[in-house]
Amino acid sequence: MCLNMICGSMYSGKSTELLRRYERNKYAKRKALLFNHSLDKRYGENVVATHLQDQEKSHSISTVYQMLSILHDHKEIKNVYIDEFQFFPNEFADAVIFLVEKENYSITVAGLDLTFDNKPFKSMEKLMPYADEILKLKAVCCECGKNASKSYRLTSSKQKVEVGSNDSYIALCKKCYNKIYK
Ligand SMILES: [Zn+2]
Repeated sequence: MCLNMICGSMYSGKSTELLRRYERNKYAKRKALLFNHSLDKRYGENVVATHLQDQEKSHSISTVYQMLSILHDHKEIKNVYIDEFQFFPNEFADAVIFLVEKENYSITVAGLDLTFDNKPFKSMEKLMPYADEILKLKAVCCECGKNASKSYRLTSSKQKVEVGSNDSYIALCKKCYNKIYK
């Protein structure tokens, strides 16, 4: 029915915005499901949390099958929120598109749009043309204080998806990113 995306760099407030929208359902007495990736254990399993320490109970999953089976068990709920969507493989994007376009779901995803080396995250990129709304949030550049849209990694790990702890990434604006990233 409706696909909403919340994207941006690290520390841009994506999970905060996702949780804000998710929590509105409670006040409206509407049922909703919250998912996150099981890789994201920063704050424990089955919980979506923000850097500001807000948290909500969620379903931690890693495969499309897990998500579909939970949706199947809650057939009456058509309102779905997914955090850290960049962690999920492409087939997740296909499933989300199908659920929204053909099965009457309203889905909101939050995720990083760019990798630390400034490439699009595939699952996010795939969803974008199907989104009804895309909100791009900005962090604050650690170097100059302007709006930041890049995530820069301070550690040397080669893994593309590294679950961000507070000390392994910083947010930078384009100018500062280009100065530092070579
Ligand atoms: Zn800057």
